[in-house]
Amino acid sequence: MSEPKTISLNELSEYRGQLVTIQGWVHGIRGSNARQFLSLRNSGRILQVLAEKELLAEETFSEIKHLKQETSLSVTGKLVENEKSPIGYELILESFRKIGESENYPITPKDHGIDFLLSQRHLWLRSSRQLAILRVRDELSFSIRNYFHERKFTLIDTPILTGSIGESAGTLFSTEYFDLGNAYLAQTGQLYLETAIFAHNRVYCFGPTFRAEKSKTRRHLTEFWMLEAESAFVSHEQNMELQEDFIKTVVKQTVQACLPELKVLERDPGPLLEYMERPFPKIDYKDALEFLRSEKEDIVWGDDINSEREQMLARKYGGPVFIQKYPREAKAFYMKVNPEDPRTVLNADLIAPDGVGEIIGGSEREENYSNIIKRLEEEKLPVESYEWYLELRKYGSVPHSGFGLGSERLIAWICGLSHIRECIPFPRMMERLYP
Ligand code: ATP
Ligand code: MG
Repeated sequence: MSEPKTISLNELSEYRGQLVTIQGWVHGIRGSNARQFLSLRNSGRILQVLAEKELLAEETFSEIKHLKQETSLSVTGKLVENEKSPIGYELILESFRKIGESENYPITPKDHGIDFLLSQRHLWLRSSRQLAILRVRDELSFSIRNYFHERKFTLIDTPILTGSIGESAGTLFSTEYFDLGNAYLAQTGQLYLETAIFAHNRVYCFGPTFRAEKSKTRRHLTEFWMLEAESAFVSHEQNMELQEDFIKTVVKQTVQACLPELKVLERDPGPLLEYMERPFPKIDYKDALEFLRSEKEDIVWGDDINSEREQMLARKYGGPVFIQKYPREAKAFYMKVNPEDPRTVLNADLIAPDGVGEIIGGSEREENYSNIIKRLEEEKLPVESYEWYLELRKYGSVPHSGFGLGSERLIAWICGLSHIRECIPFPRMMERLYP
């Protein structure tokens, strides 16, 4: 007889009722003297393996009973359907072989503090909730790329090492760069994306972004993955329409693909999906300010809207909401001044409810050469370091708009997590660079 086929937990349905081999790790084990239930992990999923004393040699059963967490094994048995199993199947064990021992695995089912878990991130990745979160991340990343690829945006991989500066040098990581002085880790790909719209019209990038800001909040990492999209001949209003359609599409796709993962995370996707069926309201900053003041908030024209206030607005409008047309002094130099109210710019932040806050920042860009110089001077930024960027306003300048989404914040929202540190495999924060 031929050897049973070695399969992964991603392809169970093709092998229903068959004798198969699966290689993996002991995720957990429990049971009695008559039967043991072994949770076997493979490909980010867990399969229950049933070891019945009656069906096995005495020695085999006893060895199973003494298996330690995270021992690696190869198990062979019959794959049977099981409605109660989250993955729909279980394996009736016939034989097994140990591959690698595991003694005193440090992460046990008991409660460990977050600091301990973060310092064990290289091992913590194997835990059930972490498996679920990173699978959601995988689906979301795929869905994001797919969204833009299908709509004929061209992927432009913008540089991570940059010479010119984005907005303000205070939030940039710098490193020595041979004889050329300092290089900075990119905090946005936007300026480079803007160059590419003249070649490809509609472009996007999706890569790591670095911010040296000293923020120790639930929603700031020093390294995060940002989706940025930039389009020629697109107005501020069209930019918001694109963002709304983009968020609705990728959230629905990710939720659909990750129902078992959301169950592990005890996240009911119902309310989230309801938000995706409603239009996202668009509120002017000045009206947001008025509302916040009516709620006795001490806020004046020009102040940024902090996260507590973002949540007050999300509650008032019952879900995701765009806050648009901020005072120009609160926003970056490249945002186009609002012709109808030059105190403001044509920008919008998309605020998510459920404690998440700003997930997207976007704007129409200033396309006029002398206006943008004026804005740089207003902000006291060195005009000479933007030379190549300014040339875009000399050679066939066009109206254009773009936005940036912090993917970890969207993952946190989908998963119902209060902190974004678990939404990336190896979080980088002010106080954490290890492992
Ligand atoms: P915030 O005001 O929340 O610090 P920001 O206005 O500085 O954010 P933008 O420069 O507009 O952020 O960046 C676009 C998006 O990138 C934000 O809407 C957010 O989703 C994400 N983002 C920004 N900074 C961080 C960070 N430090 N960690 C994780 N995501 C971030
Ligand atoms: Mg912003």
